[in-house]
This record gives sequence, structure tokens and C-alpha cells, in this order.
Amino acid sequence: MKDILDLHTHTIFSGHAYSTLTENVKAAAERGLVLYGCADHSLGMRGILSPWYFSNFGRIPRELYGVRILMGAEFNILDEEGNIDFEPDKFSRLDYGIAGFHIPCYRCADADRNTETYIKVMQNPRVNIIAHPDDGRYPVDYERLVAAAKRYHKLLELNNSSLRPGGHRKDARENALSMLELCRKYQTPVILGSDAHFWTEVGDHERALALLAEISFPEELVVNFDEKRIFEFI
Ligand SMILES: [Zn+2]
Ligand SMILES: [Zn+2]
Repeated sequence: MKDILDLHTHTIFSGHAYSTLTENVKAAAERGLVLYGCADHSLGMRGILSPWYFSNFGRIPRELYGVRILMGAEFNILDEEGNIDFEPDKFSRLDYGIAGFHIPCYRCADADRNTETYIKVMQNPRVNIIAHPDDGRYPVDYERLVAAAKRYHKLLELNNSSLRPGGHRKDARENALSMLELCRKYQTPVILGSDAHFWTEVGDHERALALLAEISFPEELVVNFDEKRIFEFI
């Protein structure tokens, strides 16, 4: 089946990514994606260009070069209450939300408390996708995480960047494998995300796809293969 979407990409707005929105959409078109999502880091991330960036998404065409465009945000989880850096006046026309733990926005706790935090975040209607839950710097109880994603109808991400050799997220491969086996058990769908910080990475899910193939993960539990499927979640 063909991988037709990528909803986890960044632009120069994020302050530590290097391509424009136009360059990213062109790259998505060249790769044959049907759906491209832009999810720049939200207000709590050091170095973002302006707190008002997210407020004018109504000006951005939702189709370019034959690719449908969604404008989202990657929120930072801020505390153990599950608060994220969403502010209603600054996020108009937001099409979807990703949320994740990022240094230095969240003070890491133990697996029990990190898991409780994720479960609170999943109850926020602004959040559709949990970003890189494979990051071993934030230990998680995957059994509870996967069961909660199913219960609250959220997507867990299989992050292609986490799987880079020498990547900064700890034990990403082992954690992703644990998560995927539980997703199979609970029939919880996943989404593949590139976490692109340069246009050449847009739509690149090569390592994630290889991992899925390695364990014969059921295709029907991957939303990237079906445009209709993703809109059940966002
Ligand atoms: Zn980033
Ligand atoms: Zn992230």
C-alpha cells in the first residue's frame, strides 16, 4: 500500500528547521504525497519566530501543487497536569494538533507519572496525535499508553527521525517495537511521521516502514495508507 501523507514536518518558523512551507509542499508533491501537514513547534519552544504565526493560517491555501495542505502545530506538554502551550487567541484555523515531550519544556518524571501525563493530554480535544512516544528519555508504560490511545481515539506516532542511527531519542527502536506489539494487541492505529526539519525529509518514512515490515505489522493499523482514515482522527 502507498504511503500518502506526512503530518509531522517543520519549517524555518520553528527556529531550528531550514525549509519554507512552499519548499516542503513542493517536496511533498515530488514524493507523491496526497496530504501534507505542517506542524511547527508551538509557543513554548525556544527560538520560534513569532507568537502570532499560528493566528493567520486562514491565508494559506489548503491545496498547492496538487497536494492537500493541513496547518497544525506541535504542542509542548508543559507539566504533569497535561497542560499544553495552546492559547485560543493565537491558534485560529488550526487543522490539527500534535503533542509531545520536549526538552526544556517538560521536566521528565518517572514512567508512571509520564504515562499519567500523556493520558491527560489525550483527553484534550486540540490534540490528535502523540509525537514520538518512543523517546526513552521520557520513560512510559506502553501498555497503558496504547490502551489510552485506543480509548481516547488518538493516534500514536511512529517517528522516522527517532529511528535515525545516532538519533538523540534514547532506545527509540526498542520502545517503538514495544509500542507496536501493544498496538497490534489493542488494535490501536499508528501514524508514520517524518519529523522533517529540512525539505528532503518530507514524506520520508523509510526507517519506520522497514520496522513495520520487520514485524509484519498489520497495514490496516497504519493511517498513512488511506486518506479517509486520517480524517477519522483529525
Ligand atoms: Zn524540532
Ligand atoms: Zn517533537
